[in-house]
Amino acid sequence: MKQETVSRRDALKLGALGLAGAMMAATNAMAAAPKETEVKFDEEYDVIVIGSGFAGLAAASKAAERGLKVLILEKMGRVGGNSVINGGAFAVPNNRDQQQFGIKDSADLFIKDALKAGLGINHVEMLEVIGKRAQETFDFAVKCGAKFQTGKKPTWFGGHSVARTIVTENMSGSAIIQPMAAFVEKLPGCKLMTRTKFDDFVMSADGESVVGVAARENYRFNKKLLSDDMENTGGTKKFFKARKGVILASGGFSMDKVYRKLQDPRIAEDQDATNHDGATAGAMLKAFQIGALPVHIDWIQQGPWASPDERGFGVAPLLTQQGLFVLGVAVDVRNGKRFMNEMADRKTRADAEYVILREDPKANPVAIGTEKTFAPQIAHAVEKGLQTGVMKKFDTLDALAANYKIPAAALKETIKVYNETAMAGKEDEFKKQTLKNLKEAPIDMKGPFYAIRLQPKPHHTMGGVKINTKAQVISGNTGKPIPGLFAAGEVTGGTHGASRLGSCAIADCLVFGMVAGENV
Ligand code: ADP
Repeated sequence: MKQETVSRRDALKLGALGLAGAMMAATNAMAAAPKETEVKFDEEYDVIVIGSGFAGLAAASKAAERGLKVLILEKMGRVGGNSVINGGAFAVPNNRDQQQFGIKDSADLFIKDALKAGLGINHVEMLEVIGKRAQETFDFAVKCGAKFQTGKKPTWFGGHSVARTIVTENMSGSAIIQPMAAFVEKLPGCKLMTRTKFDDFVMSADGESVVGVAARENYRFNKKLLSDDMENTGGTKKFFKARKGVILASGGFSMDKVYRKLQDPRIAEDQDATNHDGATAGAMLKAFQIGALPVHIDWIQQGPWASPDERGFGVAPLLTQQGLFVLGVAVDVRNGKRFMNEMADRKTRADAEYVILREDPKANPVAIGTEKTFAPQIAHAVEKGLQTGVMKKFDTLDALAANYKIPAAALKETIKVYNETAMAGKEDEFKKQTLKNLKEAPIDMKGPFYAIRLQPKPHHTMGGVKINTKAQVISGNTGKPIPGLFAAGEVTGGTHGASRLGSCAIADCLVFGMVAGENV
């Protein structure tokens, strides 16, 4: 783990926890995990899963399907973490819908795309598993009741060479989470407990293996705290034995105001993120404490498609990714010029936006496009964006430019050149891949024009515990798996390298959740 110090000014700002509390939560230099000889187990299961997102529920579903008795612990009052508020987009390389629509894809092409976005530091063996098993995992999710829009041309996400993403029926992760939770709970002996917080692992007498967990029932998450609630003794302490193993699926830490800033000091404490309130680092830090190997912890991905004009994830990511960015442009409001490939990977785009925001924190870039840029299936989002005001509609480019204080002549010139380049079949200066073979200009000069202000938001923490291709957690001390401990999903690190491509989170979480459930 990267060791950082907190400045005095930061310490004062950390408020609620104070420096000592914040450092304790953040570096978790606390008591060693209890041993089974020191505790009395209240209940016994085969498998204990920490977290009820994609990774946790896929792991639990697979283990439960194998006839194992499974307990899922969820610290929040509701099931699904970030997964249930996710956009429901699942990259499935070489899927059946691609084949039906003549889109040529392969696991190798998927790996190539992921490596490009990940700046080559991805742990390739993990990508190989995803490439090989995504379609099968998709089928498993469907078997558990997940509902996808199949039989349609797949969606094209930024950074992917081809359209390979299948979206859920309601364009939300809830279409996977709810059926999977119901699937597990239906099976005999299986249970899902909300408001139950994992506090620590319970180790074997020799301290080598994970044999259970310490948790608190009736726990109430306090969102005012900046980091994990380590000090809080609220709730009833319980010990759960795991006969076969514990699967850590506690997600990322984009909402951990202390830990994320220790890793990436650019992220201000009051910076909004796309995540649910419970996306904190505590469970991952407990795994580090028992020896799990940390990887890529300070790579925190920020969503370049988010807007400062709404809280959290909101509707802007859908309106930009499946709309304005595809055929439209993003411009620097100070000069009316494009400054990035709107379809590049997330890191490239967020970094490009940050270059502008560092120079002027109020000069949020603006994404601009016309009606035809919106995929037909996001009509409801277009309506919602206009209703909430996160997206605005203008009859003319002059009106749009006046609203955002963009030099109008420069903006018109930018769009003219953009349209002409695409129509001439030439590659534009940013090599945007969605401008090829268009029959008409990408931006319809008749208007009306739609616009959204942009702000990168912490979205996915790339780092986490190191697992192998069987989802076993690797010890930093021995280089071997820690017996009894598995992990999957955003709490793991390395798979996506420096930056994850859009729609690969579901692929990663479900594939490795399933792998963990198979191997535990
Ligand atoms: P993933 O996409 O990796 O599955 P999610 O964010 O969707 O991650 O789900 C992780 C879940 O784990 C969240 O619902 C979160 O509240 C839960 N969680 C995090 N820490 C703990 C903990 N200490 N005890 C119980 N649940 C936890």
